[in-house]
Amino acid sequence: MSVFRSLKDLAVVLEKLKDFDRPVEVLEQYRTPGGIAATLAWEAMLRGDLEGRVVIDLGCGTGVIAYGFLALGARQAVCVDVDWRALGIARENLRDFEGFVELVAADVRYLHTAIPKDACTVAMNPPFGVKRRGADLEFLRVALGLCNTVYSIHKYVPRSMELLESTARSYGFRATPLARLWMTIKQRFKHHRRRIYRFEVELIRFVKERSEVG
Ligand code: SAH
Repeated sequence: MSVFRSLKDLAVVLEKLKDFDRPVEVLEQYRTPGGIAATLAWEAMLRGDLEGRVVIDLGCGTGVIAYGFLALGARQAVCVDVDWRALGIARENLRDFEGFVELVAADVRYLHTAIPKDACTVAMNPPFGVKRRGADLEFLRVALGLCNTVYSIHKYVPRSMELLESTARSYGFRATPLARLWMTIKQRFKHHRRRIYRFEVELIRFVKERSEVG
């Protein structure tokens, strides 16, 4: 059972976790803000998509999202990132859950798991696809192939929801927007002219339609 009485308590703990040391720009390494990661996990808990499940955090970075899911009752976490240095930070951040976390250094595009699709939930804040166009959709396609339930954070741009929905539909999934929140990131990379970036993100739940075959 979770020790967190409120979403806010969890957000505070997540916000205190360690950030990337030297973020890699091309990998779009931004730590997911505590409030956003906490909301994603809370929504999953309320919908019964978390308790007892294996959470697969794709592009886990610092492990903030996996932490939130484990704290609210996920059975185990598989954290995948292509940057092994980021996994070192995730290891530190997830020390409270030692023995329940697998860290996997891999490119998600080539990832396969042997975990039954009903026993897992993907939780992710993929690259927004600004540096490498389409990276977010690439992550989504992988996620939809891994588990029957996916919780994901996407940069909100008008029409983006349509594209995500149609991708989901082609995989036999239904997409439900859960919340739209402001995300603030501090200037980390040289090309940023402004010190603070603020944009909207959409939290989305994808579930496999039971009527679909396969
Ligand atoms: N939720 C994370 C932040 C995600 S930022 C946190 O709060 O720390 C996106 C992450 O995706 C980065 O850590 C980056 O290294 C990783 N990434 C980018 N492309 C990837 C790929 N092809 N395969 C695996 N990980 C990737």
